[in-house]
Amino acid sequence: MVDEADARHLRRCVELAAEALAAGDEPFGSVLVAGDGTALAEDHNRVAGGDHTRHPEFRLARWAAANLTPAERAAATVYTSGEHCPMCAAAHAWVGLGRVVYVASSEQLGEWLVEFGVPAPPVTTLPISEVAPGVLVAGPVPELADQVRELHRRFHGEPNWEQRVAQAWRTIDEHEAAEFRALIEGLAAELPADSALAAFERGCAHDSTGQPERAVPEYRRALELGLTGVRRRRAVCQLASSLRNLGDPAEGVELLTAELARTSDHMDDAVRATLALCLVDVGREREAVSAALTALAPHLPRYQRSMANYARALGPEADPR
Ligand SMILES: [Zn+2]
Repeated sequence: MVDEADARHLRRCVELAAEALAAGDEPFGSVLVAGDGTALAEDHNRVAGGDHTRHPEFRLARWAAANLTPAERAAATVYTSGEHCPMCAAAHAWVGLGRVVYVASSEQLGEWLVEFGVPAPPVTTLPISEVAPGVLVAGPVPELADQVRELHRRFHGEPNWEQRVAQAWRTIDEHEAAEFRALIEGLAAELPADSALAAFERGCAHDSTGQPERAVPEYRRALELGLTGVRRRRAVCQLASSLRNLGDPAEGVELLTAELARTSDHMDDAVRATLALCLVDVGREREAVSAALTALAPHLPRYQRSMANYARALGPEADPR
């Protein structure tokens, strides 16, 4: 699929990608090669100035339209370090260029960016074949893909601890329970011994892999050590839910009631939903419905005010008993 001549042009693409990186731009490089094997034009990414349409493949397509006959374009090949994005694949097809050979696929690049904690781009990632089904495509080329990955890793910087934890959680379904706990333990162990965050992550890992009895002491420890932000509220909800699963919903009610009185934020509905579950288990069903309806009312398409009033009427202050 990829011969020695192809490999030589691809190595040049990787060099161009490295030049882009050295110039502070995203590491992408491409070469346009005529049917007889002559390199006609080359470029690297130039989006650092703010114009995100300045991809090398797009520029090469326009260069080909301006400088080559239709027959020359059809016989030409575009080599590139990363598979064309939909914009460039469309330009390639519109000007009637021939084959594409790439080192790394869009799918690989997408996976790397997730791994590096980079936000999703504004354009959907698609294989060239879906955008331009008539174009002959070859790639990826594993022998060079690691070099391209390394350039992207350097561009985006080392992922920080938060990004690596988030990435680990995204892979939970790919691991056995013990293996996943070991993965989180490895990350937690990088933090100081008295880290509230480490205790919280350990608790979550036990909780999510069916070990609530081991999650509870970790959540308690995380809260004692002064866990902050949204994680503190999550720790309270998850502790209460674990206690309920272990047969102690009463402490869950106590914790969540105190939590609702303590503060208010976007987690309120999650706190109330967990409280509703704990209330049912202690036999306070009217209050459970009140808590659940209070959480639900703002999300209803209609009746928001009346449902909120009915929810209050079922609640502890209005309880007719
Ligand atoms: Zn592009």
